Amino acid sequence: MNIQLEIIETIETYSKIIIHRHMRPDPDALGSQVGLAELLRASYPEKEIYQVGGPVEGLDFLAEMQEVSNDMYQGALVIVTDTANAPRVSDQRFSTGQKVIKIDHHPNDEPYGDLVWVDTNASSCSEMIAAFWQLFPNRLQMTSNAARLLYGGIVGDTGRFLYPATSSTTLSLAAKLRTFNFDASKLNRQISQMPLKVARLSGYVYQQIDADKNGAAKVIFSKELMAQYGVSDSETASVVSLPGNIEEILAWAIFVQQPDGSYRVRLRSKGPIINELAKQHHGGGHPLASGANAADLAEVQEIYQEIQALCQSYMAENGKML
Ligand code: AMP
Repeated sequence: MNIQLEIIETIETYSKIIIHRHMRPDPDALGSQVGLAELLRASYPEKEIYQVGGPVEGLDFLAEMQEVSNDMYQGALVIVTDTANAPRVSDQRFSTGQKVIKIDHHPNDEPYGDLVWVDTNASSCSEMIAAFWQLFPNRLQMTSNAARLLYGGIVGDTGRFLYPATSSTTLSLAAKLRTFNFDASKLNRQISQMPLKVARLSGYVYQQIDADKNGAAKVIFSKELMAQYGVSDSETASVVSLPGNIEEILAWAIFVQQPDGSYRVRLRSKGPIINELAKQHHGGGHPLASGANAADLAEVQEIYQEIQALCQSYMAENGKML
């Protein structure tokens, strides 16, 4: 039996389903989580379906979370979307359900759960949920809101169909979702627009970015700088992709200082594979988009030197910038 069939048959045997996603949610985490929740609510109205995981950090135009008590997990099926490792699941009670299903598109470094469906070729976990719907058209009922959420997740993780993971499958599933009644241009705008203070921080990124001759680049946001701009950690999401617009830049890191003085590291690349580097610094992610942590400025420097080395060997092999 293929995994998708096993998943739908498992879903059909449970009357209570609790759906989780990762911490610091992005549009794909919420899109896949709540898109699936809405799809299941419409398809199986007799079941109890919950979406949990705490605050959605500025993405409440997509969805809001529900509260569930500890005893609700008894006898429940738990589904976790878009989350590679168990420690990153938002709300660790996920493991107290009767059965856990992992659905994800990150490298399967930690195959937690009783059933695991991982597709690293999918642009987004939302694309996987849309593909799941397409596999079982007689059992799963799409709604306009589920389509909006899944479309939003795809738009978020592909940078509006720009990044290399955007395939013909991505586009054709997105086209099917667009046949539902939701305002896609409003959604695109909600996902990509930013407050003025973040726009000003973008100016800082473009002004201050350090880049070497092989296209390695870095920007550091100290606590003081974030306070000066009035920007929170989660609000830095809108500026992470900006260095990719610069012709001379190949791979980059944005180091965001945390209240305890350590740094959240947001890594992106147009070529060199960066997720192995991320794993060596308490992180992980996709080959071209990863996250990690640096304890102090010495580790920031170490990570930057590793990015420089990756860019140097990439340039040596590929001759010129993309
Ligand atoms: P971010 O820069 O936080 O948007 O993260 C980019 C990608 O890296 C996402 O796919 C995350 O799931 C992944 N990622 C970020 N931080 C971590 C971490 N600490 N451990 C594992 N994966 C991470």
